[in-house]
Amino acid sequence: MSTSAPPLPSPRLGEPYLLTPGPLTTAYEVKEAMLRDWGSWDADFRALTRSLCDQLVALAGDSKGEFACVPMQGSGSYCVEAMLGSFVPRDGKVLVLANGAYGLRAAETMKYLGRACTLIDKGDYLPPRGDEVGAALDADPAITHVIAIHCETSSGILNPVAEISEAVYARGRKLLIDSMSAFGAIDLDVNRIRYEAMVSSANKCIEGVPGFGFVIARKTELEAAKGNSHSLSLDVHAQWASMVKTGQWRYTPPTHVVAAFLEALRIHAAEGGVAGRGARYTKNRDVMVAGMRALGFETLLKDRWLSPIIVTFFCPADPKFVFTDFYDRMKAKGFIIYPGKLTVVDSFRIGCIGRMDEHVMRKVVKAAGEALAEMGVTSAAPPAAALEERAKLAA
Ligand SMILES: *Cc1c(COP(=O)(O)O)cnc(C)c1O
Repeated sequence: MSTSAPPLPSPRLGEPYLLTPGPLTTAYEVKEAMLRDWGSWDADFRALTRSLCDQLVALAGDSKGEFACVPMQGSGSYCVEAMLGSFVPRDGKVLVLANGAYGLRAAETMKYLGRACTLIDKGDYLPPRGDEVGAALDADPAITHVIAIHCETSSGILNPVAEISEAVYARGRKLLIDSMSAFGAIDLDVNRIRYEAMVSSANKCIEGVPGFGFVIARKTELEAAKGNSHSLSLDVHAQWASMVKTGQWRYTPPTHVVAAFLEALRIHAAEGGVAGRGARYTKNRDVMVAGMRALGFETLLKDRWLSPIIVTFFCPADPKFVFTDFYDRMKAKGFIIYPGKLTVVDSFRIGCIGRMDEHVMRKVVKAAGEALAEMGVTSAAPPAAALEERAKLAA
């Protein structure tokens, strides 16, 4: 049983744990891998890039050579923009499935790209479902592509991408997935879930440091993407074609970040790949949510939609609870938490991803209990209005 497993080593003595969904706490070995300089054109570095791409395509489950991985410099949003600008033709139209900040950012990106876009916005509590996606596609034959957010990191909701994919392909349209905060811990196997391309980044579930993201796409789509992009540096087709030809990134790669990522991939494989990583995060979530509920906190979402990535809690109604004070006290105890990103109610978030396990999560809960006591908060129950809103909107 994993309960008897020894704790993971501390990231580094005295460093706080980042209970944030990227950047997150990384293994010491990952940081150590950055203590060397690499020539971007050199064969040794090209071998790193090649290995990185091969391993990521394998993680997506492609064994037929139908998919390729294209790493892109920048943070995750650069990759989302690169994917949308490269795979959606200029006369295409995108249906964005939003239920939080990242879905809305995808819609905003489409506006910058100046390409046609329509939106299903489900608010903070509920996922877009296959039947409503199907209805939207039936109603608008001009839609060519759908973009879904795998785990909507702003609320922590895990969206049902498999049923969305079925609805999309039953109508002959194409699916793009922002799997930023899910890939590597939650299954997105191309043999089980059909899609044309997905994006993720170095500093999420693979537990690397920030600096690049990657697109995993069907090769036929990569070929067809030639000439679509609005941007030189965000052209996924051009990056791919150049890498195939030279083995190099087109422009300066984040060499140290890539070296660290290779070490992170080694640790990921040693932990049992997607299944092993997902199991640890799930345990982290279960231990943390049970402990926080025992303190009186309530989650924004019903259990059914709680991801093993990050969990949103309502702020307590007690006037003695002040989030910034709570934050500072948690930090002093070694834990950096995350403010909420909701529109209506006050909330905060605790991430389950990064180099930490259930033993660390028990300490997180203990620290939260102590912080409440120090602040003189006697009940962590949320305001009645928040619960009423949840009952109304999550019905
Ligand atoms: C982290 C994240 C992104 C990218 O955010 P950056 O700050 O640009 O790295 C995009 N989508 C989701 C769902 C994310 O979790």
